[in-house]
Amino acid sequence: MKRRLRVLISAGPTRERIDPVRFISNYSTGYMGGQLASEALARGHRVTVVRGPTTEAFPRSARVIPVEDARSMERAMRGAARRADAIIMAAAVADFRAGKRSGRKLSRQGRLTLRLEATPDIIGRLPRRHGQIVAGFALETSDVLARARRKLGRKRLDAIVAQRATRPGGPFGRRAVQAWLLTRRGTTPLGVCSKRRIARALLDKVEGLWYGQLTPQHPSTS
Ligand code: C5P
Repeated sequence: MKRRLRVLISAGPTRERIDPVRFISNYSTGYMGGQLASEALARGHRVTVVRGPTTEAFPRSARVIPVEDARSMERAMRGAARRADAIIMAAAVADFRAGKRSGRKLSRQGRLTLRLEATPDIIGRLPRRHGQIVAGFALETSDVLARARRKLGRKRLDAIVAQRATRPGGPFGRRAVQAWLLTRRGTTPLGVCSKRRIARALLDKVEGLWYGQLTPQHPSTS
């Protein structure tokens, strides 16, 4: 019988604080991460979700670790990744944070310059266990497939779901999106599809890669 996998999923946005009452974030709702968690549980896997601030309800049988910003998400991911067979980084980590957070609420003024710095690339610098399967997402407004493929390489991923962002709010939430599934071996267009379908396609791929590496006499055809 196939062993259940320990699947670690990140979900939702991060919030990067500017002052005690304001932050930088994005439109992510955590819905994609929720669909991945439900699908993985339905397949009998054990699921841990590291989630940024969201009102999305995650399945009760998942272990849920709430975090706020990229730094706390990275800490939680590093802790949980040690025991994970597969890691799916679906969180929309804010790419920038304030170089300096103000301890006091900034007052309104004619002009304010914020100096931003990049947040750490959580998935790119996560220590890996041998055999662990690691997947991510890429949301692009142009050159979708070329950019996604570069991210697959740069972040050392086994699979990446590329999505086209066509309007404000992007593909976040419950709406259908145009998506592709990329691995090192090729690209599968998923068409305009639901997040549920994306979750199924990605978990099919993750399972294929995981179980394929355990049975070298029947190599996977990813
Ligand atoms: O570079 P980009 O943000 O498009 O990469 C997207 C992928 O990288 C997603 O899987 C996202 O969760 C992950 N990511 C990350 N740390 C960041 C930014 C993105 O792990 N700081």
